Amino acid sequence: MRIRPAGLCGDHFHFIVVLVCVVTAIPFAVHAQQSAPPGSSSGVEIVFLGTGYPAPDAARQGPSLAIVANGKAYLVDVGTGVVRQANSASQRGVPALDPAALDIAFLTHLHSDHTLGLPDLILTPWVLRRSKPLELYGPSGTKAMAEHILEAYAEDIRIRITGLEGANTTGYKVTAHDVQPGSIYQDANVSVKAFLVKHGTWKEALGYRFQAGGKSIVISGDTSPADSVIDACNGCDALIHEVYAGSVALSSGGAEWMQYMKAFHTSASELGEIAAKSRTKMLILTHWILLGNAKEDDMVREILEKYSGPIVIARDLDVVAP
Ligand SMILES: [Zn+2]
Ligand SMILES: [Zn+2]
Repeated sequence: MRIRPAGLCGDHFHFIVVLVCVVTAIPFAVHAQQSAPPGSSSGVEIVFLGTGYPAPDAARQGPSLAIVANGKAYLVDVGTGVVRQANSASQRGVPALDPAALDIAFLTHLHSDHTLGLPDLILTPWVLRRSKPLELYGPSGTKAMAEHILEAYAEDIRIRITGLEGANTTGYKVTAHDVQPGSIYQDANVSVKAFLVKHGTWKEALGYRFQAGGKSIVISGDTSPADSVIDACNGCDALIHEVYAGSVALSSGGAEWMQYMKAFHTSASELGEIAAKSRTKMLILTHWILLGNAKEDDMVREILEKYSGPIVIARDLDVVAP
């Protein structure tokens, strides 16, 4: 791994080059550049399509990532911009993310920021001639959401099929599964387990553990501190976790806001403890939120009080090989 001087983390990733911010046990971030597959022996990559949160920041699309294993992409969450971001990743050297090839996704929960891209994922790849129905896995309500989206777009679907567009009659369909915690999916490339996390008043919010190419990758989804994440990781190769740092001033209605953050999300210092207990080999931050005057360095410093392994602050279109 070649260590680069600070100041390069805003760069886009390049083909065959992964640019990540790796923070070591020093009080500031340093940046590393490492080779991605084919240098990676496992052939597994994590592509961050959107690392944002509900705020409409064009540099940070809605939460979505892809686990790419054996040349096949498995999406987790489908926030705003998912298909366009997949197309960008595909053009930059991840062919598995060609939009017409996107045919399987896992939802952690049904908050709008994690699902606003679902109509896009159902319809756009179909317009691009995908003929295979979308396989969709998620908590209770996933099936109903897919049905309602198809109902909302019924006229669009009818016109595309019967009109001059000549769309196929299968690729807009969704095979949706409301899953229970446990093993939920397996094929030749990956096996996937779902587990419950704690996301405020949501009855059901899930995290996922992917096993692929000899690597274990755990995704927290949105959660306040949850032992289930620690148990699911248990020495995993990569733990991808949400996080917030800082606080909102009490003078601007901050008390209520912070109450919400505590019940629904995980602070940087809480995450430090989770990462240490999970014994993950790499902690990747996504859906990260800086409140008030907090800076990335503050977020990292708080995590490092408890956890001493490598930390990656994920940015849109970063590719990480665990
Ligand atoms: Zn949420
Ligand atoms: Zn969220």
